[in-house]
Amino acid sequence: MYDTFTEIPLSERIQRLHDASPLLIGVFDEHDMLRYANPAFRRALGLRPDAFMTWQDLMRLNHKQKVGTRIDSPDFEAWLASARSRRGKLPYRGFEVDRTDGRWHFMTESLAPDGWMLCVAVDITDVRADERSLRADRDGAWKAARTDALTGVSNRMHILQLLDEQIAQLRSGGQPCGIALIDLDHFKSVNDRYGHYGGDLVLRDFAHVAASTLRRVDGFGRLGGEEFLAVLPGVDRAELAAVVNRLHEAVRRSTPLPDYPGFHYSFSAGAGMLEGGEDALTNIRRVDHALYEAKGSGRDRCVMLT
Ligand code: GH3
Ligand code: MG
Ligand code: MG
Repeated sequence: MYDTFTEIPLSERIQRLHDASPLLIGVFDEHDMLRYANPAFRRALGLRPDAFMTWQDLMRLNHKQKVGTRIDSPDFEAWLASARSRRGKLPYRGFEVDRTDGRWHFMTESLAPDGWMLCVAVDITDVRADERSLRADRDGAWKAARTDALTGVSNRMHILQLLDEQIAQLRSGGQPCGIALIDLDHFKSVNDRYGHYGGDLVLRDFAHVAASTLRRVDGFGRLGGEEFLAVLPGVDRAELAAVVNRLHEAVRRSTPLPDYPGFHYSFSAGAGMLEGGEDALTNIRRVDHALYEAKGSGRDRCVMLT
């Protein structure tokens, strides 16, 4: 016990300030698990004082209970995939969040190199209300320009931009990065048998399985058709192979067509380490050769470049 006010240790003072502050303060670890949240953060997101969960589960809970972050999209998983394609990709970002109770927050994310993230938000409901809808439209357009409309993951432009950023990192002596080019197997016959709508369901299923298998720092996007690219910063060859293996296992368990519970699909992949001396498309061309080999040797597999 401390008998005079001035003897309160600094950490306890900071704790008291956090407890009393209307600022939302939360800390997520590299697996996006909530590790700390002050009372204002918990109140705003409808979290019990002892509840800790991943950011994805937190959003799932918000969506189910219609509290906290307003999630208007009819397809929650697509919303989640889209939000994840932007979350934790930059050292710092700030954005406005629309809440179910009609209030607005300006949320900031500060990312440490080890993947831990500090989230601080301030209530801006009473600030420049007249300009807010304009900004919301602009943010919506910014997101739409980077999102694949069918699946919610990054679109071609955004995933190539994330790839360019990793190449720039490598050139300045940064961490290695793995990439995997993925193409669904016999997708034409999925369309032929189950119709274009059935094909679309499979594409969305694959995007959501991949988005929940990959880490927050990973980039994942649809290059076009049934072809996807995963960008995995900081992995070595063995980890890259393990990630694609996990994705194969997750896809094997998946049953994307409700009317055909026995239906399964597969994918082939070509994977390798990013080369800093090459541009994005040359790097993709290299793993495309490996993908071609995976297709030629029976599909439903990954060929790693040596
Ligand atoms: P492989 O195992 O060799 O990759 O065979 P595949 O049938 O998957 O290869 P192919 O590239 O010939 O077929 C791709 C098909 O994907 C053809 C096209 O109609 C379909 N496709 C492309 N975009 C979409 C889409 O947005 N929705 C649906 N449902 N189908 C699409
Ligand atoms: Mg293809
Ligand atoms: Mg294909």
